[in-house]
Amino acid sequence: MNPFTDPNFRLGIVGAGQLGRMLAMTARRMNLRTVVWTGGLEAPAVELADEIIDEPFDSPVALERFLATATVATVEFENIPRATLEAIAAELPLHPSPDAIAICQNREREKTFLRENGIPCAWFAVVSSADELAAAMKELNGPGVLKTAAFGYDGKGQLKIQGDENPADVWAAFGDGRAVLEGWVPFEKELSVMVARGADGSTAVYDPAENRHRHHILDVSIVPARASADTLARAQALAIRVAEALGYRGILGVEFFLLPDGELVVNEMAPRPHNSGHHTIDACATSQFEQQLRATLGLPLGSPRLLSPVVMLNLLGDFWPAETTPPDWTPLFADGRAALHLYGKRRAMGRRKMGHATILGDTADDALARAEALKAKWLGEAGS
Ligand code: AMP
Repeated sequence: MNPFTDPNFRLGIVGAGQLGRMLAMTARRMNLRTVVWTGGLEAPAVELADEIIDEPFDSPVALERFLATATVATVEFENIPRATLEAIAAELPLHPSPDAIAICQNREREKTFLRENGIPCAWFAVVSSADELAAAMKELNGPGVLKTAAFGYDGKGQLKIQGDENPADVWAAFGDGRAVLEGWVPFEKELSVMVARGADGSTAVYDPAENRHRHHILDVSIVPARASADTLARAQALAIRVAEALGYRGILGVEFFLLPDGELVVNEMAPRPHNSGHHTIDACATSQFEQQLRATLGLPLGSPRLLSPVVMLNLLGDFWPAETTPPDWTPLFADGRAALHLYGKRRAMGRRKMGHATILGDTADDALARAEALKAKWLGEAGS
């Protein structure tokens, strides 16, 4: 089926968050139709989609409708039941594959995959009882982080440990069935690399982003990351290795810790567009969303070239003076080289990701200074 001529073509997107919204927007720019499956969750993508399936991901009726409507499929959210992914892949081309998604959606599988493929990652042990935790803490003999094996993101389901605690107390406080104990990585910076891998196995790798967090949520991505050319090249090479080892097709985010001595270790992977790749819309020859669309459809990948240094600033709910009152965007528009992206979420609660701004600069430092100035205006006294 030719997506550009067949009226029945539908790009199926599993998940309908802001990533799905930006993917659907890219599809719409090319006059390609989409069907999104919301999972019953809040769904910023629905305004941009041609068809909407507003049902949970385990609904057989929804699955049937998705299979009947979509021509090819991709995901914008990794926490989809594996059975659903397998059922989609049995009927439709689904990229990335259920196996690749399953590895990235579960920390135990992800870490094991990295270790088996000789890709550097933090020391870890899988534990499922207080006794196993005691043995792992003894082996680690120092600080670490206990993380749930499944479905963790943005620092959720994590407990920092010093190493001298009573393992039984730690396990009781953590209270989860299966976990990964990771050694503490005294990193200097966090980097991420977006890499697209096409149907023919070719890759397009983006300049690494330097990521800074606020309250465990991405605050700014600075591109290019301020690290040596050698470090940046090694991060890109590692991201390509991860994509190849996964047999990946689509857009993949690989997060790294950079140590003071230049060593890089992979923290985690995202089998979809990533928040730290949002700058690619305004600052790269081809956006991460367009690469996902191209890879899913089997089209040649586009150039990942960075056209300008850039900073992506996440617009979190705490910038909003009230739940339904957005900040004054005038300073952003007055900047002249800043772009506003809003996801259409109705209520700005807590630290919800409401949108992002991309700020182009002559240098990354210039863009960062202007991003920080905007942030200070919106956060005011509450800023941190
Ligand atoms: P994650 O959800 O695994 O990305 O972890 C969230 C954040 O916790 C990371 O971005 C780091 O800032 C921090 N973190 C996670 N794991 C480690 C670790 N092993 N050592 C040091 N910091 C960590």
